Amino acid sequence: MALLPDRTEPLFLTRLEHNEHKFIERCDGDTDGVVINLRFDSPPKHGRLKRAAIEKRLPFLVDIETWRLPFLTGPEDEEFLGDIETPIGNATPLPLRPESLKDSAVLAGLVRAAAQVQVGALYTFAPYFLVASLDDPWLEINLLALAEMRRIAPRQPLAAWLYVDFEAMSKGLVPHLAERYRRELPLGSVIVLTVSDIRAGERTPEEIATYLRAIDSLRVSGLHVIADRASEISVAAIAGGAAGCMLGNRIYRTAPASPIWDNPFNPAIKLRYFDGEGVRKVDRETAKARGKRGKLGCRHAPQDCGAINADKRHNILVRLHASHEMRDALRRAERLGGVGLQRLWGEASLKQLREFAQALALAEARSQEA
Ligand SMILES: [Zn+2]
Repeated sequence: MALLPDRTEPLFLTRLEHNEHKFIERCDGDTDGVVINLRFDSPPKHGRLKRAAIEKRLPFLVDIETWRLPFLTGPEDEEFLGDIETPIGNATPLPLRPESLKDSAVLAGLVRAAAQVQVGALYTFAPYFLVASLDDPWLEINLLALAEMRRIAPRQPLAAWLYVDFEAMSKGLVPHLAERYRRELPLGSVIVLTVSDIRAGERTPEEIATYLRAIDSLRVSGLHVIADRASEISVAAIAGGAAGCMLGNRIYRTAPASPIWDNPFNPAIKLRYFDGEGVRKVDRETAKARGKRGKLGCRHAPQDCGAINADKRHNILVRLHASHEMRDALRRAERLGGVGLQRLWGEASLKQLREFAQALALAEARSQEA
């Protein structure tokens, strides 16, 4: 077996939500870094999350979420005030159409705003928009924005963000995009892959295998892939060739295909205990009972984690626990690789793990065919 390469990129980045400076303040080696959504950290909060990360010397990324801008009706759109109030929102003519960004002065204004808000971050992402096909006019804009970022901010570490619609991904779009992006990016660059609505338990092994192949196509193009919001599938993604992943610290967050909230359910979903070995969330009462019997606990910091007994007032512990437990699961996936995980999960009692093993086997078979 080949030795692991020296790790220079973070393996696990925790995506923060609104007002989570407390997470950063309490963080003590629980995660490799955090992802800050620009709209969560713009007025009226004025960069509190970013300041906390800098003070703590915690590596961070800024998710500029420019893919949301085409959904805004105009500068008065009350649904999207958070997006409009960012420096990027200010630099964008609304409503935004791909044609508006073909004007090089408009594109340069947007790219410059994006560069400025990412100063100090691990990577600098060019503005990015959701891509649904090879003929999607936003694809061309994404590539133009990358070239422009390279020109405007040559000293910032350029990275690409690829946001793909699930249907398009499942029809095999990403390997074609890999070729296009490879031409715009220096070898070894970081690329974040977001696929909308990819969530364990809702996707078949075939669909997960297609997702793993998508990651592999970017990897063989010489890019470091960070899998974004792929729920527990992220663990399989690391074994399948991703260099890292980023996930909400409530673990189950997925990426939507549209920023317009049309879900009748309350977005505040109950926090559960994350079990890295089973790669699943466990109801907190169940986790507590299993913990007492010595069947479940924290391997990362057994003495001082405390998450298993945390009540609602200490939800922050459950979130920190989710981060370091997830990272442990990812480290194991990296160590074992696809073949090792198939062996470990092939006969597992949890259906989800058997399905991940199946997906890894399918992806590998398809990779050999290609
Ligand atoms: Zn823990």
